Amino acid sequence: METDKDIQTTQRGFHCNICDVNIPNKPSLEDHVKGKKHQHLVRLRSQRKAQEENSVFVSGFNPDTSQIDLKEYFTQFGPVTDVIMDKQKGVFAIVEFSKPDDAQTALAQLQHQFSGLKLRVKPREKKDFKLASRGKQDSKHQISLDKLNFELCKAASVNEQFQAVMESFELKDNEKKVRDLLVQLLQEVFAEFFPDCLIVPFGSSVNTFGIHSCDLDLFLDLENTKVFQARAKSSDQAGENPSEDSRSEDSILSDIDLSSATPVEILDLVAAILRKCVPGVHKVQTLASARLPVVKFSHRELNLQGDITINNRLAVRNTRFLQLCSGIDSRLRPLVFTVRLWAKQKQLAGNSSGPGPLLNNYALTLLVIFYLQNRDPPVLPSVNKLKRMACEEEECIIEEWDCTFPSQPISVPPSKNTEDLCTLLFGFFAFYSKFDFSASVVSLRDGRALPITDFLHRDKEEVATAEASSPKPKRSSAPKLGPVNVLDPFELSHNVAGNLNERTQMNFKRECSEAEKYCRSLQYQRKSAKGKSWGLVRLFAPPSEAGPRSHAGTEKIMEVSIPFKADVLPGPLCSQLAGAGEAFRGLWFAKVCSAVYTVFNDILKCSPSEPSQDTVTAQSQEKDGNETEVNNNQSMQDIDPQTTGQSAKKRPLATDDGPSTSTCTQAKRRRLDSHVEHPEPVHWSWTQTRHVWAGRRKVRRDLLKTSDETSKPEGGCVDIESRVTQRIVENEQEVQDLLEFKVDAEVVGGSENTKVNLRFKPSQDKAALFQDFFHFLESFLPKMTETLLGKTESVMEVS
Ligand code: ATP
Ligand code: MG
Repeated sequence: METDKDIQTTQRGFHCNICDVNIPNKPSLEDHVKGKKHQHLVRLRSQRKAQEENSVFVSGFNPDTSQIDLKEYFTQFGPVTDVIMDKQKGVFAIVEFSKPDDAQTALAQLQHQFSGLKLRVKPREKKDFKLASRGKQDSKHQISLDKLNFELCKAASVNEQFQAVMESFELKDNEKKVRDLLVQLLQEVFAEFFPDCLIVPFGSSVNTFGIHSCDLDLFLDLENTKVFQARAKSSDQAGENPSEDSRSEDSILSDIDLSSATPVEILDLVAAILRKCVPGVHKVQTLASARLPVVKFSHRELNLQGDITINNRLAVRNTRFLQLCSGIDSRLRPLVFTVRLWAKQKQLAGNSSGPGPLLNNYALTLLVIFYLQNRDPPVLPSVNKLKRMACEEEECIIEEWDCTFPSQPISVPPSKNTEDLCTLLFGFFAFYSKFDFSASVVSLRDGRALPITDFLHRDKEEVATAEASSPKPKRSSAPKLGPVNVLDPFELSHNVAGNLNERTQMNFKRECSEAEKYCRSLQYQRKSAKGKSWGLVRLFAPPSEAGPRSHAGTEKIMEVSIPFKADVLPGPLCSQLAGAGEAFRGLWFAKVCSAVYTVFNDILKCSPSEPSQDTVTAQSQEKDGNETEVNNNQSMQDIDPQTTGQSAKKRPLATDDGPSTSTCTQAKRRRLDSHVEHPEPVHWSWTQTRHVWAGRRKVRRDLLKTSDETSKPEGGCVDIESRVTQRIVENEQEVQDLLEFKVDAEVVGGSENTKVNLRFKPSQDKAALFQDFFHFLESFLPKMTETLLGKTESVMEVS
């Protein structure tokens, strides 16, 4: 079979080479091979192969030769289906015949005379069919990285390697000069059209973290121009003589009223000026739908990409903040350059390609600064502390946000921390591999992680309305919460990592913990005597396919995790969790347990395998050491958020028809932080007598065809999934005691992401069959639980 070569057996299942995906088991592999994407790629590959065999590579003709001329000439060997010319240079062409034999005949002819020239006709080069991967590094970057790694291996210490990384990437003086010249040129041109305007560079060109290829971010400050225009207008109305200054008569200002024009209208003018009046500028494009509308452009001779924004004073200020941080401690720059290169190589950050949304360089730099604020003793002070070090003249408020900090690093006392870069980088990886991203908000202003519960009390609808009505959330509005929450140090309603998804967050953490492991080794800390790569070099290897992103080491453990996702929870539950304060994990765990119970009992029609005897407890301990016990013989409605975590009252966890054979083992309690302890794990035993997972997709498709329900993803609708199970149950004979399995649920968080881990243990004799059920549960259970948690009524009164 054609596909056999494409499928490789791996430790954890299979790998499809043509689609570049891992597949866990045989049934999924069969589905995959029959799937549209795989079939499409297989077809595409055979088409390409046929095209290769049918065609010849031709060179040696005049640049003015047309495709028709070549077609006419080669038709003598057989029908020609296509001629593809190298349009830029006109030096080669690919001539495609309808049959491979005709290509062979053309190749067999010793000489080809064409328009008085001798043509060279060669077989077409055979290329391996590869998917165009967004994540692949470009070869130029790889060459310079190889060169850098070679230099790094020669360095005497890791600390020296940091300096070498920085020196190899940082903007050199001549590059800065070129940027300055372009800014000057733009300033002159724009002042012609917008009198008194200012072109202010910001971002990496000037924040001390710029690299050779970084873009040139510019802020067009039209404040003075507005004043100028207002003055000109009022003197016009007063009938005064136009002053010497009223250049606006001939300028673009006579066509636009800056006080009422929309940002996009102004940027359209900016784009027109760039196109028509700035030599060397090309590829001008207005992006009106960006968070901040922007005009992008390139400069041909200077080989630069630029952005022009208006209304972006906050970015100019946060650029000043980054400059200040660099000036306060000289370890920041080499650390940021190194972390950026590591993150780029691991496809976690950067502006270019990569799998899914990435951290941008600004957000990544903030993460480094935040980590340094949290060292003991701190390397950098919090923004609040910086504010206190500023003098009166340095006070700065932009759009109601307090952006006050000292203008000079000299105002900030030097840090007492004396750790070297080698230790600090190790610490960076250790810090973030144990960081609870899902339940924390990174606050550089406070210099510490804030609990997510501080941000849950806001009415979600209010936030949504605020976001929809104005692109810039107001001071009072809450940031958009997501898998990673990094508050801008000044615009406190803005999560600069709000674009990230669960996967990027997990990849980031996983790469941090891989890097942390490596940093523990001698290879990181000491130069290799045998000339092997050492120190930073190994951190810059691309992510290995079987490495960090895989579930290496967990193949024997059947575990499904339900992550804490604040953004999918309904408003009332958010308020309950906010009310529970530090004990929110216990309350959330109870909700998740109820939802999981509903999935097994009601949606998948599993039955509790033994009669109920014991009580499930989820205990959370308060600051004063009192315990709140929650058992699962009572409805979820009975959990009073106000009292959770407040009193020593025993509180029920789950429903009357809750887990019937749950036992509470005295499992070791893990400490979350000094105040909050995890609730005890919960245990269930279940029996499943039908193959509710087998052929489920098809049953679901058939069911949706005959109903008017709008299609929801698998696990996205309680009613549909219950009906799918029902249909499978109706059509299948009951098998006695088909599957027995146990589920242990525990909530973790604090020193890792807050989540509920569900560990499955099938009965010995059914392990192989359970494997299939488990693979289905891996995606179905988190989605279905999320759906149930997101439903206000199901959360408040589960089954
Ligand atoms: P590079 O261009 O090298 O990737 P950069 O820091 O210039 O790095 P850009 O994406 O070009 O990053 O953004 C330019 C500047 O705009 C940043 O330095 C920062 O001042 C501001 N900025 C970027 N993203 C955000 C954001 N999400 N929130 C607030 N300010 C931002
Ligand atoms: Mg930039």
